[in-house]
Amino acid sequence: MYRVDQITLTWVRIPLNEPFRISNGVVAEKDGIVVALHSDGLTGYGESSPMAGSFYSADTPESCWQQLVESLAPQTVGRTFESLADACQWLDAVPGSNFAKVGIETALWDLEAQRRGMPLHELLGEQANEKPAAAAQSGLAVGLYPTTADLCRTIERYVPDGYKRVKIKISRGHDVELVQAVRSAFGDTPLMTDANADYTLDYQPVFEQLDQFGLLMFEQPLGGAMLEDSAKLQSALKTPICLDESLETLKDVQRAIELKSFRIGNIKIQRVGGFWNALEVYRTLRSAGLSIWVGTMPELGIGQAQGAALATLPGCDFPTDVEASLRWFQDDYIDPVLDVHQGLIEMPQAPGLGYRIDQAKLARYKVAAQEFRA
Ligand SMILES: [Mg+2]
Repeated sequence: MYRVDQITLTWVRIPLNEPFRISNGVVAEKDGIVVALHSDGLTGYGESSPMAGSFYSADTPESCWQQLVESLAPQTVGRTFESLADACQWLDAVPGSNFAKVGIETALWDLEAQRRGMPLHELLGEQANEKPAAAAQSGLAVGLYPTTADLCRTIERYVPDGYKRVKIKISRGHDVELVQAVRSAFGDTPLMTDANADYTLDYQPVFEQLDQFGLLMFEQPLGGAMLEDSAKLQSALKTPICLDESLETLKDVQRAIELKSFRIGNIKIQRVGGFWNALEVYRTLRSAGLSIWVGTMPELGIGQAQGAALATLPGCDFPTDVEASLRWFQDDYIDPVLDVHQGLIEMPQAPGLGYRIDQAKLARYKVAAQEFRA
């Protein structure tokens, strides 16, 4: 049994190394809301990390900040929970978006892992009834570029880090020639595409062409609600379809499984509102015999480290999108910053998340902050 004594919210903004362009838009800065939950002398950290604008979902840093400040933090502070399960189920039922709740939810898991003296990935393994690996495999993801030469130059720059696969973004009119260029520059490097829901079934011939390149998967080719169309497309292709944006709730996952809309599930902790729901999706995909991997927004340090921890679970057959902190961001507020060696992210052995939160950096990149006491 424990009580949440105090909550500190810090909204930070860190510039990206290069603008990130996908089929729906472009961003140059990364916003994240750091949630610190204080309980019995311990502090657990979480991050609420939607992309700015309507880049990936309808949630924005502004909308999540508002929900956290006006509703979620005031309802959570001073509350006593029987257990982690009790806390997660209570939060899941409270009105609010997944992208806002995830900051509090994942901080509860950090607290629980610290209280029990175990690293976060081991707590996740215990809850999933599985043995986690000691490191997560990491894949390189790159955005859209003005030319194929720019695209290949960016991939080239990260070859020394040993990322385990390359993912490129595609959009209508920018697809087959990109895959062709990367294939001819990088041979049979494990490669996949992500369309961020840009296509409709009318574009099936494009995917039939892409089907010839032996790609690992086509991530989210079609618009979010088109599970039937995705099933039609999947039945016409050898390459597995991976769903990301479409899998918002457990119901979506179950329906997509029934329809055979996909063969691979991308789990994003942010999109599903935390670890409790992520593990439910994980169990559901695994018992349906589908492959899994862990996606990112990408988040800043806390969110990224959480994704890496989840990606150590067995069944996460494909590398995660979690990359080194300095791959995307000019700086990060975790210490040490997240690093990738030979394509691997080693799990810290300290209890909880296992990274220190650099308070000076939180102050430096702060947009707003607010404190709640019981
Ligand atoms: Mg995606």
